[in-house]
Amino acid sequence: MSNKTLAIIKPDAVKKNVIGQIVTKITEAGFKINGIKQVRMSKASAEAFYEVHKERPFYNELVEFMTSGPVVPIALERENAVAEYRKLIGATDPAQADEGTIRKLFAANKAENAVHGSDSDENALIEIGHFFSKSELI
Ligand code: ADP
Ligand code: MG
Repeated sequence: MSNKTLAIIKPDAVKKNVIGQIVTKITEAGFKINGIKQVRMSKASAEAFYEVHKERPFYNELVEFMTSGPVVPIALERENAVAEYRKLIGATDPAQADEGTIRKLFAANKAENAVHGSDSDENALIEIGHFFSKSELI
């Protein structure tokens, strides 16, 4: 059975020119790309996307970071996609992330941490819908 997850290559990684390396790691880990694009998130889009973190002290910083440059959302499919993708990216703080994970390789710190990953099957579908219309996905 295959599941969905949403990845986002965040502005720090886009600026570092590592989109290709990150996409390669994702596809080599067995994920199928159902949709990919580069977009600049508006403040309203970033605020809505991270609504669950509204009460967290880093919310404003997070919205500012995510709107600081273009991002690359990627709709992914794989068996056990949410957990497998989170394993591939590593811990939120790259200092805590396992060797070889995307965040260990490409993230600077726990705020500017290279990539996003959905945290549940339910949120994955909501998050994919935030960036992609049905006709943009295979
Ligand atoms: P994850 O992205 O691993 O699911 P969270 O959902 O907890 O992590 O947080 C969402 C995003 O908010 C993180 O990826 C990171 O960019 C940012 N963030 C999390 N914790 C902090 C923090 N303590 N200070 C600044 N930014 C943070
Ligand atoms: Mg999260």
